[in-house]
Amino acid sequence: MSDQGLLTRRRAIAMIGAAAAGALLWPRKAETAIDTRFKFAQGTVFEDQSGDGRRSPGDRGLAGIMVSNGTDIVTTDEDGRWSLRVRNGDSLFVITPPQWTSATRHRAAFSYLYQPDGTPAALQLRSPSLNPTGELPASIDFPLMRQPQPRCFEALLFADTQAADAKELGYVREVLLSATAQTDAAFAINHGDVMADDLTLFPEYLRILRETGMAWHHCPGNHDMNLDAINPRYAFEAWKRFIGPTNYAFQYAGATFILLNNVDYFGCGAATAGGRAYRGRIGNNQLQFVANVLRNVSPEALVVVSMHIPLASFDDPDSASDSTVDRGAFLELLSNRPHTVSFSGHSHTTEHHYFGPREGFCRDVPHHHHVLTAACGSWWSGPRCARRSDRRQSGWNAERVPCSVGRRKLLHDALRSVRRGDGPGGAHSHARRGRAGTA
Ligand SMILES: [Zn+2]
Repeated sequence: MSDQGLLTRRRAIAMIGAAAAGALLWPRKAETAIDTRFKFAQGTVFEDQSGDGRRSPGDRGLAGIMVSNGTDIVTTDEDGRWSLRVRNGDSLFVITPPQWTSATRHRAAFSYLYQPDGTPAALQLRSPSLNPTGELPASIDFPLMRQPQPRCFEALLFADTQAADAKELGYVREVLLSATAQTDAAFAINHGDVMADDLTLFPEYLRILRETGMAWHHCPGNHDMNLDAINPRYAFEAWKRFIGPTNYAFQYAGATFILLNNVDYFGCGAATAGGRAYRGRIGNNQLQFVANVLRNVSPEALVVVSMHIPLASFDDPDSASDSTVDRGAFLELLSNRPHTVSFSGHSHTTEHHYFGPREGFCRDVPHHHHVLTAACGSWWSGPRCARRSDRRQSGWNAERVPCSVGRRKLLHDALRSVRRGDGPGGAHSHARRGRAGTA
């Protein structure tokens, strides 16, 4: 989105941070000296009968469960065993199958981050970074617990909560608690720009999520990055520390949810002419991940994909930071499936895109991409009543996952439910932002 030449408060903060980090004149060669060789990790997926997250005698291994390193996917053998290659910085995770949950009594335990030395000290990140994870353990064991899941369910979809400080995080708390109290949704997804660059707020955000009593999923946005990372490889250190993998998938009832990171950061000090040092791009590894997930999912199943940056933008169609450059390759992957839908945020507008053969989606019924209304509306501006309830200011979406039936009807139902479930942001369609800000 265009900032219309205005230097906003947030943009100014980001630029000061970028300039300060750039002033270090860090030699670019030094921070690329990282071990990128593969190692092999192994472990099990087991039924955690006690719910304590640990494998006890009698907890059986679960066969045929997908485990991934973010790109490759293997399935567990009859004893629940898996083995995968892993590189420094990768997250290993189990793709929770239908009728199971990875949430133990203590925490969601579906992933393991492998970054033995943590964030390189030489980077001198001032934003929150990663402590060393140590070497790979002998066995990485993912617990799963049975969870009855109804065929029809609702999911709450948020985007751009974008809290810049503790006060705005208080607004986020009000919105999340209010939204989750109004529904019996199965889980919620926040589509990124959870924060507005201050990553020290993540722990308080996590406390708010616990208060909602709901299961949460996330994909990262451009305001959730370690902006002071010269090497973009380290742009999501805080995300990995507080939230988890930057891309993963899970299944619920008959649907498969894939969460992607399509924020391609160029690194601190690498701002382009438009002033934004990132573009929308899924990248080959994640495209391979999507292909691998689909290979293991029934062709008739509903596939829902979440990302932060839209696949396309009405407001600024030519902006690489407001749309996804490899959209065509992504849509081509989905083309052999009748039931797909995708969601994003970022633009603080509500948009509905329908992609057909011209964009790479080769089916007679188009792929529906829904750009979600920003939870923060116009960056938490306006009077209190507007922030909290004015439908033109902020919103969230309750999406009903259809109960099935015939293939066409399933997709049509999905489309209708998206329109019907527009929630408080529905009236905000295609509206421009109320004040200058950064998406
Ligand atoms: Zn954004």
